[in-house]
Amino acid sequence: MNCVSCDEPMIVLEVDEVEIDYCLECGGIWLDSGELGILLGDEEKVQHVIKDAVPAPKKTETFRKCPICLKKMDEIEIGKDEDKIYIDRCKQSHGHWFDKGELREVLDFMDHGESAKVVKLLKETFGE
Ligand SMILES: [Zn+2]
Ligand SMILES: [Zn+2]
Repeated sequence: MNCVSCDEPMIVLEVDEVEIDYCLECGGIWLDSGELGILLGDEEKVQHVIKDAVPAPKKTETFRKCPICLKKMDEIEIGKDEDKIYIDRCKQSHGHWFDKGELREVLDFMDHGESAKVVKLLKETFGE
């Protein structure tokens, strides 16, 4: 799979039997639908936070394409007020794209930032 952002081939990291596509170039992460819930062991919370997230009213200039269906993704906003995080979501629910640091921010928002294995792995492996 190539990076959504810079089109470089991504590497696959395995955490809890979940395959995470990670771009060494830009630090972006692709998660298939449902993988975030498995990573957190808390699908309900993910449903609540991500699946109910509203499309971002203020869109950024760049549109990312889903690496699976190659269609333009939606930008959704997570969080509230000044701490909004914008992530890209495939309209057909193939998954989500997190720019560098965004997965951590989303996990922090869900109170899983420090404890999440994926955060530890990224920290240990890439010093993030
Ligand atoms: Zn990249
Ligand atoms: Zn898709």
